[in-house]
Amino acid sequence: MTAEALRALPSVDQLLMAPAVVEAARGLARPLVADAVREAVAEARERIRNGSPAPDRAELEQAAAERIRARRRRLLTPLINATGVVLHTNLGRAPLSEESLEAIRAVASGYSNLEYDLESGSRGSRQAPVEDLLTRLSGAEAAMVVNNNAAAVLLVLSAVARGREVIIARGEMIEIGGAFRIPEVMAQSGCILREVGTTNRTHRRDYEQAVGDETAAILKVHPSNYRVVGFTASVPVRELAAVARRHGLVLIEDLGSGVLVPTERYGLAHEPTVQESVGAGADLVTFSGDKLLGGPQVGVIAGRRELVDRCRRHPLARAVRVDKLTLAALQATLLHYLDGRPERIPIYRMMAQTQDALRARAEAIVNRVRRRHVPERSCGFELRVVRTASTVGGGSLPGEVQDSAAVAVAAGSRAEELHAALRRQQPPIVGRIEEGVLLLDLRAVDPVQDELLADGLVLALEAVSCTS
Ligand SMILES: *Cc1c(COP(=O)(O)O)cnc(C)c1O
Repeated sequence: MTAEALRALPSVDQLLMAPAVVEAARGLARPLVADAVREAVAEARERIRNGSPAPDRAELEQAAAERIRARRRRLLTPLINATGVVLHTNLGRAPLSEESLEAIRAVASGYSNLEYDLESGSRGSRQAPVEDLLTRLSGAEAAMVVNNNAAAVLLVLSAVARGREVIIARGEMIEIGGAFRIPEVMAQSGCILREVGTTNRTHRRDYEQAVGDETAAILKVHPSNYRVVGFTASVPVRELAAVARRHGLVLIEDLGSGVLVPTERYGLAHEPTVQESVGAGADLVTFSGDKLLGGPQVGVIAGRRELVDRCRRHPLARAVRVDKLTLAALQATLLHYLDGRPERIPIYRMMAQTQDALRARAEAIVNRVRRRHVPERSCGFELRVVRTASTVGGGSLPGEVQDSAAVAVAAGSRAEELHAALRRQQPPIVGRIEEGVLLLDLRAVDPVQDELLADGLVLALEAVSCTS
């Protein structure tokens, strides 16, 4: 019996030619497809040996196709972000503008003047074009770009304060996640940390009293991802700049999120802008490119020319250098700001959407699902449109929310199962679960993907088993 059933199983080669398998395998490398099919056959063999009935041909083909799709999902792949978090660190932070994507394509598909001066016909600087844009936008004398903001902080501290003391307020000794902790970065850069103040309050006199012969700099860190509320005090940049000037120190501000436009415009709290920090007298400012700037992953160092030049000349600069694709995307993003058109940047379009507009989209999605969905396979899950609160995320504007809207599926104990089925769709859909309700928040979903989201939800609802 068993031997016969085993013999009756199709071979890997036969399965590889089945239409469902061919369809699932499109564009995926052959060895990965073959592995997935072999696993499906091995699993069927195992089940037969354990006394289960042999899968029929169609079942086996489906199992192989699903394993191929699972294999594809282990590669880097786009997905629909229905979490309601605009800058989701795990989902790739900021999506890029059309112009940024075109710029990447144009520069990546051929040669460019990356390090070539077209006027003189001699070697040029890869940093010059973005430096020009960054200095115009920020008001800083000079600027340079590195791999990310963590690298920017490390490079700045290494170039400016190695072997000397850096004063920092105790309340700003933060951890960003992914093991970026200010005290550890300071140790890595070879500078000596001089903590001042208390967790909740730090005063100007705390800084003044800490200054000594060994002091090189004051570091101010924007507590991007948390908020201290209640009895608190910190010293504004302008005052710190006065202290730094009086004692001949360098004032460094790590802004985290490099915002260039007022966030109040989007009903959010004010996030300190790069221009404000530079204008208030910070000597060096560091920030990310893929947080509220809405560009590619980079770290920007902007500030006084002599200090930026020190960073440029430091040996670490080469190790944390950005590539041409990133520079192309950053340049296009910065041009949107210079043009006064931040709404070309996807995150600003997302943040500008009203709750009414989001509700209307959610209703259209629910209607489409209801039209398409086979009710008896829905486990009786109730579908509705609900008000939600979306966040900016990415370690920006902690505690700040925007009124948003979501498609809600009251799936109770099956919410996790339904969420897993959504993640198996093509493209995968990631939402969030609150008290047994699966929420697909539309704040960070590109409207052109609404129908894909609806269709993915239909398939996921059908895939959830309603037995037991
Ligand atoms: C996010 C953040 C960083 C790290 O920036 P990356 O670009 O993610 O490397 C450093 N400092 C602060 C204050 C931040 O918010």
